[in-house]
Amino acid sequence: MRIFDPHIHMTSRTTDDYERMYDAGVRAIVEPAFWLGQPRTTVGSFTDYFDGLIGWERFRASQFGIRHHCTIALNPKEANDPRCVEVLTVLPRYLAKDGVVAVGEIGYDSMTPAEDEAFEAQLAMAVEHDLPALVHTPHRDKVTGTRRSLDVVAASGIDPGRVIIDHLNEVTVDAVLDSGCWMAFSIYPDTKMDPDRMVAILRRCGLERMLVNSAADWGRSDPLRTLRTGEAMLSAGFTADEVDTVLWRNPVAFYGQSGRLVLDELPGFGHAAETFEGNSVLRGARDR
Ligand SMILES: [Zn+2]
Repeated sequence: MRIFDPHIHMTSRTTDDYERMYDAGVRAIVEPAFWLGQPRTTVGSFTDYFDGLIGWERFRASQFGIRHHCTIALNPKEANDPRCVEVLTVLPRYLAKDGVVAVGEIGYDSMTPAEDEAFEAQLAMAVEHDLPALVHTPHRDKVTGTRRSLDVVAASGIDPGRVIIDHLNEVTVDAVLDSGCWMAFSIYPDTKMDPDRMVAILRRCGLERMLVNSAADWGRSDPLRTLRTGEAMLSAGFTADEVDTVLWRNPVAFYGQSGRLVLDELPGFGHAAETFEGNSVLRGARDR
């Protein structure tokens, strides 16, 4: 099974996770910019983080055979802090970088006027920079938040085919299905969406424009929920090709719209890493 996890916060994860992900078939990921848990107090805190996403974390993932991409934005929660909003002025610099495949996560947390402003401004940046957009839906008041997000997306003039609405569930998926936006589901270990609920949604709504992610971060989460969902699909009677559509081809089609995905196998991994009569062409890249 080859897996593209389109939403995972690797900065919060360990090298053990990278190894387990590679062994599970994960070969490419998107790491959206988000909050740190601890509130940021200055714009410098964002720029150091963004530099880490396009620099260090991309390198770190490559050491484990995984192609790393990211999305850049002022997240909805911190859009409410005047000390953070100033970061909007430096975003264009980052949106021009290789490895940045969308504007995100943007959208709503508590649906405040400050969030409205940041959401609209950043959708406009996505249009201007010809990038897709990743929209986070709020964890509270989810139905209202999802509907309102779709209204803002429609008003912005961005092509809905270049927008993902993320963290959906059984209740919110239908509104998005008709909008033309892509639909993403974060699969968690013991709350919110689980693999079996995801399978039921795929049965009912089909596979088109559907993405599955682990959304793993510093909270209780599991970077292998994508694999578990693929396994649940197979046990429910979906074919290996259908699993590949959801876990690989759909995220590749969506983020490929950025023109910046790099998906070729990293040197030192995969078939090239096999030995010939006990000899490897590799030098120190991967020793198992
Ligand atoms: Zn996230």
